This record gives sequence, structure tokens and C-alpha cells, in this order.
Amino acid sequence: WPHTIPHAAKAAAERWPDQAGIIEGDRQWSFAEVWADARAAASAFRASGLRHGDRIALWAPNGRTWILATLGAQSIGATIVPLNTRFKGQEAADILRRSKAKLLFVPEFFLDTDYRALIADEDLPDLAEVLLIDSEWDAFVARGCGPDDVTVDEALSHISGDDISDIIFTSGTTGRPKGVLTSHAQAVQIFGDWAVRVDLRAGDRYLVVNPFFHTFGYKAGWVVCFTRGATIVPMAMFDGAEMIRQIEQNRISFLPGPPTIYVTLLQELAGDKPRDFSSLRVAVTGAAPVAPALVERMRRELGMSNIVNGYGMTECGAIAMTRQGDDADTVAHTCGYPLPGTEVRCVDEAGRDLPSGQAGELWIRGPSVMQGYLDDPAATAEAIDADGWLHTGDIGTIDARGYLAITDRKKDMYISGGFNCYPAEIESLLAAHPAIETAAVIGVPDERLGEVGKAFVILRPGHSAEARDIIAWARASMANYKVPRQISFVAALPRNAGGKVLRMALRDWEG
Ligand code: ATP
Ligand code: MG
Repeated sequence: WPHTIPHAAKAAAERWPDQAGIIEGDRQWSFAEVWADARAAASAFRASGLRHGDRIALWAPNGRTWILATLGAQSIGATIVPLNTRFKGQEAADILRRSKAKLLFVPEFFLDTDYRALIADEDLPDLAEVLLIDSEWDAFVARGCGPDDVTVDEALSHISGDDISDIIFTSGTTGRPKGVLTSHAQAVQIFGDWAVRVDLRAGDRYLVVNPFFHTFGYKAGWVVCFTRGATIVPMAMFDGAEMIRQIEQNRISFLPGPPTIYVTLLQELAGDKPRDFSSLRVAVTGAAPVAPALVERMRRELGMSNIVNGYGMTECGAIAMTRQGDDADTVAHTCGYPLPGTEVRCVDEAGRDLPSGQAGELWIRGPSVMQGYLDDPAATAEAIDADGWLHTGDIGTIDARGYLAITDRKKDMYISGGFNCYPAEIESLLAAHPAIETAAVIGVPDERLGEVGKAFVILRPGHSAEARDIIAWARASMANYKVPRQISFVAALPRNAGGKVLRMALRDWEG
């Protein structure tokens, strides 16, 4: 593999110069043009005084300039800090302060206050410049000497696989987002293998609906396209109608995303308007459970021949994935086997290996494991032990074939009357109730049992139910210790950009 992300872009320009690298709106740029534009951006970063090791924050929707800013900054040895596009001012400022970013790219419409005021903010002493990624991009690039700047080659020769390519903040599902430091080698090697496992091909058109600020939309999104010669079609903000338009107009073949997007496509197919989704070939899901029936329908009705489930986390990129040809149950109930070079153990509380099929914490070791958390040696030491094993905090199993399945998170588990309760399991049991559309469970304090389950329930449209009916039904449907003792009916659940329920926010509701 090329040793850094910019080297991967350079290699793509050499290997597939005329192939479409990026399609955005009604414009298209070849891989040769993308690399020339990235070099011009690198030259502009140098001219702006940025140096090896400096940090550059990107707080913007998916798009071509996001990719060019990243490649340009990384070419001179800078590290990028992607910010969640859902953040509001205070959350963004917290990440800018913690990462000591010197430069911020942001579109004008994200800022409700005068963006130039950010530079004067005493709380952000490192931030020297804010640039509008939409209207000021061309002016920024014009600061440099252009793509022929020879000092870019000099800079490129000084970056190595061990350099930190980015600081990505975790989703914050279980607490405050943590800044994860990972190297170029991790990005190129692990996601190069990822692209091979999912059979991404030169000429594929990849609609990237996952956000670029997250590993799934960034490294498994556009970085992989450079390793295989596939065309990147960035989708700025998620919108169902726009996704459908893109698929038909650009003949999209590769469409990873959360399971809900395939449900949207199936609904659209059943509608009045004739649709042509015949170009779709590959789906990659992850992070949320996918039903076997959905996998079957994606194959039969959407004609997707290759449906893969993958397991990953910010701290170690991609870990495991299923393979093309695995049956629907395997795709739905497991997240596949480890990528090359990745070791996985499933252990009990004392760190002893468990027999196959038994649930325990998953530990990971290999080139994908992060360098550590930003400015947090204590959290890093807690996450990575002396032998290099990353303790994922995920509860799962490894079957006889070596396939992993995630059943829950350690932090979400609560103990009721001495029994371990896994919210994800209880939630899927509750979903079988005829009136329940979705349920989210947390543990709440209880005098007698230590903790008991509390379920936040969204009812199906047109259905009604009383808390005591649901509890009575649950007693007949699951072990007594799993039965939630409290039910709260809600209209919606707090979710993050990736669609995950924020159990922390539910705990806050509890006050
Ligand atoms: P935080 O660490 O800040 O609480 P987070 O763990 O949700 O947030 P991410 O790194 O974005 O942040 O998510 C990784 C987690 O997502 C994994 O640890 C795992 O719990 C879950 N996950 C990822 N892939 C799958 C999958 N295929 N099936 C089930 N769960 C998954
Ligand atoms: Mg996590």
C-alpha cells in the first residue's frame, strides 16, 4: 500500500489519470485533476505558514473541497481535525480548543455569529484563521504557487506512515467525545484491505452518504476510492430524495450506509414513479443491527449482489467484516471476521479467553489500533493495555468460524439483582410487542435490586398501550431480571448523526 493518504491520491493519479475521481453537481474531475488541485492546496497551506504537525479543522458538509483541504494539509505533514456538522458553536469551540487547531474551514451558513469573532476569542488562542470553505476556497488556493510548486515534493518526501493523519472525535455515545489519534499507515493499510474485502473496483461509483467527519465516511468513504480507482460522489447532507436522484443520474454502484437508507429505496421502488436502481451492486452496513428480511429484499428487489456488514470504531478503524456470498442470517447477525493483520480476543472480566459462542469483551490488536487519545494518557492507558490490546468496551461473541457478533456495550450494561442486563438484547425483545415501534433501555437506580431497567418506548402509529400491559407482556416474554420495571412513552429518541441512540442523553432525561 502507499504509505500515506496523499501518496494514495498521487498513486491513483498515476494509475488512473483520466478516470473520474470526483463527481459533484454536474461537474467531474479526473484523478489527475484531483491530485493537481490537492498539490495546489498543499502549496497554499505552506504559503499560509502551516508546518508539519500543525492541526487544521474541517467543519463542513461532505464535498470536493473537504477532500482537497485534507490532501493538501496532509501533504505538508499537517493533521486534520474533522468536526461533526451537527455541532453548534459551543461544541465546535470545545473541539477547536482541545485540538489547538490553527486554521478552520467552515461554510458561511454554519455560523450564526460573525466568524471573524472566533479568531478574537480568548478561549481559542491557537486559531489564527477562519476560512469559508465555499466562497473563499479559490482565494485560499491562489496564495500558493500552484500544482507545480516543487516544495510540495519536498514536503511529501518528509511525511511517513507513522505520522498522525487525523484526530477524529468519537461519537460521544457513552460520554464526552474523545479525540482519537491515528496514523496514515492505519488509514491506507486497513482501509486498503477493507476495499479489497468489499470488492470495490475501478470504475465503481461510490455515493458517500456517511459523513466525512466520521471514519466510515472519510476513510471507508473517500480514502478507499483512491486505493481502487473508484469514483467519489460526495453527498453534502443526507436527504432521501437527493440520494435517489444521485443513484439514477450518476448510475451509483456502491452505496454503504445505515440500514434505513435501503428501507427508503425499497419504499420508493413500491411507489408510483418508475425507478431505475439497476446500477446498485454493493451495500455496506454497520453500527446498527440489520434484519435478515431486509438483506433478502435488498438482494431480490434492489438487485444488490454484494451486501456486507462491518464492525469498526474510531479507535481502530475497521475491525471485521462479512464477505460477499455470506447468507442473509450471517450478514444480519454477525459482523464478519477480522481484516488481515487484526487479532481479536473475547475475554471475561479477568481477561481470560472465553470459549467460542460465549459473550465477553472484545479486545483488538494490530496495525489498526490508534496511537492514543488526545492529551489523555490515563484514558489511553485504560483503553490499550501493556501488551497492545485495545479493550473495545463492546460485548460480543466469536463463533466457531471466527465470525464476530456484537451484542452490547460494556458501559450500557447494568446489573439488576446480580444479573447482567444488556440493553440491546432487551430492546430487541421489546420490539416484538405488537404496539411497540422502538424501545431504548437504560438502567436506573433501585433500592431493592440495585438497578432496574427503564424503557423509553415509541408506539406504532395507531396503537396504544399502558405501561402495566407492556410490563405484563414482558414478564411472559423474557427472564424476570430483564423485564423493565419502568416504561416511559416518548415521541422520539435522542440519536447522533449515525443514527445511534444516545443513552447518555436518556440518562440526562432521568436527571
Ligand atoms: P463513544 O466512544 O464516544 O461513546 P461511539 O463508540 O458510538 O462513541 P464510534 O467510534 O463512532 O463512537 O462507534 C463505534 C461503536 O459502534 C463500536 O464500539 C460498537 O459499539 C458500535 N458498532 C460499530 N459497528 C457495529 C456493528 N456492525 N454492529 C453493532 N455495533 C457496531
Ligand atoms: Mg466508543
